[in-house]
Amino acid sequence: ATHEETLGFQTEVKQLLNLMIHSLYSNREIFLRELISNGADACDKLRYAALDNDALYENDSKLRIEIEHDRDANTVTVRDNGIGMNRDDVISNLGTIARSGTAEFLQQLSGEQQKDANLIGQFGVGFYSSFIVADEVTVRTRKAGSDHAEGIEWRSKGEGEFTVAQIEREAHGTEIILHLKEDAREFADDYRLQGLVRKYSDHIEVPVRMPKLETAKDDEGNPIEGSEVVTWETVNEATALWVRPKSDISDDEYKAFYKHVAHDFTDPLTWSHNKVEGKLEYTSLLYVPSRAPFDLYERDGARGVKLYVQRVFIMDDAEQFLPLYLRFIKGVLDTRDLSLNVSRELLQQDPKVDKIKGALTKRGLDMLKKLAKDKEQYQTFWNTFGSVLKEGPGEDAANREKIAELLRFATTHTDTAIQNQSLADYVERMKEGQQKIYYIVADSFNAAKSSPHLEIFRKKGIEVLLLSDRVDEWLMNHLTDFDGKSFADVAKGELDLGDVEDEEEKKAQEETAKSKEELVKQVKEALGASVQEVKVTNRLTDSPACVVLPEHEMGFQMRRIMEAAGQ
Ligand code: ADP
Ligand code: MG
Repeated sequence: ATHEETLGFQTEVKQLLNLMIHSLYSNREIFLRELISNGADACDKLRYAALDNDALYENDSKLRIEIEHDRDANTVTVRDNGIGMNRDDVISNLGTIARSGTAEFLQQLSGEQQKDANLIGQFGVGFYSSFIVADEVTVRTRKAGSDHAEGIEWRSKGEGEFTVAQIEREAHGTEIILHLKEDAREFADDYRLQGLVRKYSDHIEVPVRMPKLETAKDDEGNPIEGSEVVTWETVNEATALWVRPKSDISDDEYKAFYKHVAHDFTDPLTWSHNKVEGKLEYTSLLYVPSRAPFDLYERDGARGVKLYVQRVFIMDDAEQFLPLYLRFIKGVLDTRDLSLNVSRELLQQDPKVDKIKGALTKRGLDMLKKLAKDKEQYQTFWNTFGSVLKEGPGEDAANREKIAELLRFATTHTDTAIQNQSLADYVERMKEGQQKIYYIVADSFNAAKSSPHLEIFRKKGIEVLLLSDRVDEWLMNHLTDFDGKSFADVAKGELDLGDVEDEEEKKAQEETAKSKEELVKQVKEALGASVQEVKVTNRLTDSPACVVLPEHEMGFQMRRIMEAAGQ
């Protein structure tokens, strides 16, 4: 080995390693899943790069992953003949955390093993999970297409430093040798390793092979000495899951595949698998997670589907195929309609992309509609992603009605903060003569619930939606009607209760207003320029006065958002 160099891990990596080793102890088998997943990614990348340059295969185009162990040396080796890494790749990928949100990630760790295990999977710090079972890790790698002399060996005990050296390496791709800890000897075992490959990697298209020692037998069936040969056996199913017919795929397989594509350890809430032929030709497998990713509300958070063109992996996080308000959906899209050398830039210009996006959006909304039949599951969904879906009516006017059916609200009917009432529920309970769907927007559920604007509604038994999410005013600006009924903010403009109000009440109202004209005048003078108008109202039954915004005025929430944005 030449040019050996010792380097320090970034501070965060040290912290993370430490944490991972302690918090993931009871989930330590995941190291294999992570290494196989990296090997499969590396094979995908080589297949893609080789589309333009066949020579990158170096006459070895049968992509594969191999797992071996050595009981005496107490090692497990995971090898792939994928894209491989050069010196810079190794240093930046295995010495720093590639993704940007590391600090946040560390903040989110709870100390609870199961939760932290989930987070770590999501963050794609997969490689480091090697150190849960190994006290030393050696990586040997060479980038496909590079000179044999440009192999790299990386070594570390996971304690703050690593070394990088140049080596001669004939094979391209990467080999990872785990020197197992004493208490992790169980993994240097055929049976154990096979079980884990089937459990985690059945659906991966790249074959995962393990060696099998075969001994020739003589005519009497006795082993012939010195005849041992190693044959490689494929252990996993090795077909892309989405290509298989639906009827052949078990729920457990769907769930395992979800965990692979979404980097999640928890089961998804539901999924939808579709093959479409005709004008558009694609297969999609979309999932609704049960947990929110840490970056759900971040501008550059990971979103979108894993894109394949004719089974060839093209890119992760292809965000052009789903609207923002469905950004929680994870999954795979495999299509014949795009060319293999499509790039992110080209995706933005291709009209077929919009067509597929339209189709996937419908699939997504239908999947949610089905999920809504199970109240409990849907509530989990809503509590996790409801405020994202509320962005929908503003973003996607064409599907406004469909999205409106999926919305859930807190209302004065239940008077609890749980958002579990649909607009259809509301409409069904509307009073005779009521023409509008009433709502109020406030900063908190309690502020909404105890608003004086509700007094008259409570008295008359008219239900009001209680809105207090940050996105709610934006939502109500775009949600104009539902089932032929328009929406009315109870804190804005003239209060019109429709036919719920009877003639006599109206008369009494007008008389009161007349008799208080003098008072109104005085109040108006006292308040001067800070108000536009002072009126006698039927809104209140207990409180003496309240502030009302004009009909088309920006609401309090929007004002605050605009102010915060410096407007
Ligand atoms: P992730 O896979 O989510 O990016 P990992 O910690 O598992 O995170 O891997 C970090 C990076 O190291 C990968 O993105 C990849 O660039 C590189 N890497 C890891 N394993 C391999 C491999 N077997 N072949 C090529 N590159 C690899
Ligand atoms: Mg990985």
